[in-house]
Amino acid sequence: MRLVLLGPPGAGKGTQAVVLSERFNIYHISTGDILREEVKEGSPLGLKAKQIMQQGGLVPDEIIIQIVEKAINSKKSTNGFILDGFPRTLAQAEQLDKMLSNSDKNLDLVLDFETSTPVIIERLSGRRICPSCGAGYHVKNIPPKVEGICDNCNSKLSQRDDDRPETIKKRIDLYQKSISSIIDYYKKKGLLKTVSGDLEVDALYKVLIEMFKNNGLT
Ligand code: AMP
Repeated sequence: MRLVLLGPPGAGKGTQAVVLSERFNIYHISTGDILREEVKEGSPLGLKAKQIMQQGGLVPDEIIIQIVEKAINSKKSTNGFILDGFPRTLAQAEQLDKMLSNSDKNLDLVLDFETSTPVIIERLSGRRICPSCGAGYHVKNIPPKVEGICDNCNSKLSQRDDDRPETIKKRIDLYQKSISSIIDYYKKKGLLKTVSGDLEVDALYKVLIEMFKNNGLT
């Protein structure tokens, strides 16, 4: 199964992608996670991306496309993949089609997580991550057992630089500017399905599984 998840930051794409990738044994490709890892390692790519990410901007298409090409051609994608956070521009969507057709593959579905702005702000501003093991939390919705401390490894939780209020606004604006051409692109191809990103995690998961069944994917 090959899926693309679209939706603003905070729509819950990452949370659903983790569960779906386990359920269907497919590779969860999060361009944001891959970039954050590069930044952490201080690689040349990470150094290029760091400031752009901190300011909530978009990393240049050629860098992102290289990352995705490597991931979809890796062994981990043998059974399929879920793209989370890609494409974010029309050029990325077009390049993805080229990459897939070069290896005789195609997308099964593109899921648009439509999410209202107050929900996005509430989710992002409360989001916390463990810098050591990568576990995700939310101060209200998924609190750790001890405030500010990771349940798995006892590290101090932190907030992503780009989850601060001024950057959240910029990221939402940027998303809204670029998304309509991507939505139109996939609509024309007959691949687009819209779901509500406002739903709670379990409720949205059920909607997605039902949708896969109805589309002959399970
Ligand atoms: P995310 O975790 O998906 O919210 O991504 C975090 C940041 O990584 C974004 O705000 C961008 O700076 C960068 N990024 C992730 N995916 C892409 C992409 N497909 N195109 C450009 N920049 C990206």
